[in-house]
Amino acid sequence: MLEQSRQQRCVVEDDLVCQLRSGGLEVAGAEASYQALKRNQGDTLVMASDLGIVVSRECKICMYTWVKRKAVEMCPQCGTNDSRDFNLTEELILLGEQQGCSMEIVERSDVLNEVGGIGCLLRFRLYVTANSTGSILS
Ligand SMILES: [Zn+2]
Repeated sequence: MLEQSRQQRCVVEDDLVCQLRSGGLEVAGAEASYQALKRNQGDTLVMASDLGIVVSRECKICMYTWVKRKAVEMCPQCGTNDSRDFNLTEELILLGEQQGCSMEIVERSDVLNEVGGIGCLLRFRLYVTANSTGSILS
């Protein structure tokens, strides 16, 4: 039942969002999208129109990036506590522009909201290292 309703929604929802769910070349979520763009894998950045500032952190030691959830957080990758806060939304748009990504703004999408309002279609697939936060759909 659930799968069927998703398929039906795909017909009316934006095709890109549909791809995010149906297992094409894509990553979902702010962290994974940012990492994909940093690897120059991004083809199309998909964002919810009501996406605001996504405060994120970048580790100054190992450059790992994650979405800020608590006031004090260790780096999930190297365990140090030396990071900077930044607006991930802005950086995603900036990186996307630098790399010639298309940008799609989606008005209303439950699918996109489920993954935090950001997804990215990829130019090519790379094996994902164990430290990326599992946001890759496959
Ligand atoms: Zn680190």
